[in-house]
Amino acid sequence: MDWHRIRSDFPVLDQQVHGHPLVYLDSAASSQKPRAVINTLSHYYERDNANVHRALHELSNRATEAFEAARKKVARFVGAASEDEIIFTRGTTEGINLVANTWGAQNLKAGDVILYTGMEHHSNLVPWQLLAQRTGATLKHIPVLDDGTLDPASIDTLLNEQVKLFAFVHISNSLGTINPAKELCARAKAVGAVTLLDGAQSVGHLPIDVQDLGCDFLVFSGHKMCAPTGIGGLYGRMELLERMLPWHGGGEMIAEVRLDGSTYKQPPHRFEAGTPDIAGVIGLGAAIDYLEAVGMENIHRHDANLSHYAVQQMREVPDIRILGPQSGPRGSLVAFHFDWAHPHDLVEFANSHGIAMRGGHHCTMPLMKRFKVPGTTRASFYFYNTIDEINRLVEVLHAARKFFT
Ligand code: PMP
Repeated sequence: MDWHRIRSDFPVLDQQVHGHPLVYLDSAASSQKPRAVINTLSHYYERDNANVHRALHELSNRATEAFEAARKKVARFVGAASEDEIIFTRGTTEGINLVANTWGAQNLKAGDVILYTGMEHHSNLVPWQLLAQRTGATLKHIPVLDDGTLDPASIDTLLNEQVKLFAFVHISNSLGTINPAKELCARAKAVGAVTLLDGAQSVGHLPIDVQDLGCDFLVFSGHKMCAPTGIGGLYGRMELLERMLPWHGGGEMIAEVRLDGSTYKQPPHRFEAGTPDIAGVIGLGAAIDYLEAVGMENIHRHDANLSHYAVQQMREVPDIRILGPQSGPRGSLVAFHFDWAHPHDLVEFANSHGIAMRGGHHCTMPLMKRFKVPGTTRASFYFYNTIDEINRLVEVLHAARKFFT
């Protein structure tokens, strides 16, 4: 693979920041966009812009065609049985809230258990907490071990027949842990629990096949996989979607509206009220075309090489505490802490050397408490990053140590 040529597809990467070449190590927060996606967006607005599904004129037809073609691309990309199992959302957060407010509100009652894990992003905690308040359901969580993996003994005891929903992250955005999603989904299924997989850090980073994984719901964000912000997807198994009532009401989601009531369309349109983010959806389709052209296996391998190399090199920096798995596979990110600098100070120091990282709790406050850190600094990678950039990061960490101590 010519990764340098692929990198040149991302115009934003070609710039200086504070007199240094930009090193963008914040893709876990949001990825950069290749020219193919940017061009698709301008082409759409310059040539095809119109509302979808509503008119028979040429522009609306073109927009609708591209919009629905993107749904097919997403379905294929995540291995769904049908494009009707793909609902467009604003992103992971909205997808989880949709499931909580539809499937959750319809199916949970007092005494039922919602199980999640100690490494969830706030967006996979708060919607369930709100739902538990409304329904009287009980919240339980699987604790995280020191090495950043889920405690197997707690899985054995907590994943039982009382659990109605098991919601868990595929790749932790704060630890890099890759959870054994297929095994966990199978175990949940065996006790009759529905599963929701948070794919915010996995979709676009490794090949995903929802049928092979066996999850009931999968949520993800386009902006973390080369697509625009404001667009994402929810996969739901049709058997569940068919029985779910709508969440938002309005145009496009109805079959018939009377003054005394309405009937609704079949999924996915039942869950897509109002004018959608048409350009975003078409941009997501273009991002998938782009990722598939590079190859998801290639992306996964490159990501894995970068994070493996980063862990090896960063370990050489004195006093560093790297969170998450210390060996073996990990997602393409490394979160770390030094007692001598607050993550925000370290991120600012790195920024003055042209390096973009993130510092703080990464929307995983319970996990920060668990590991007794005020927050961490996180370097996250994608296939446009290089080994040279990781070497620059390590140099700057050594320089920071001299500066702060
Ligand atoms: N879950 C995980 C694991 C994430 O990393 C993120 C984004 N940081 C989210 C959920 C939320 O995604 P979004 O803000 O795009 O809805």
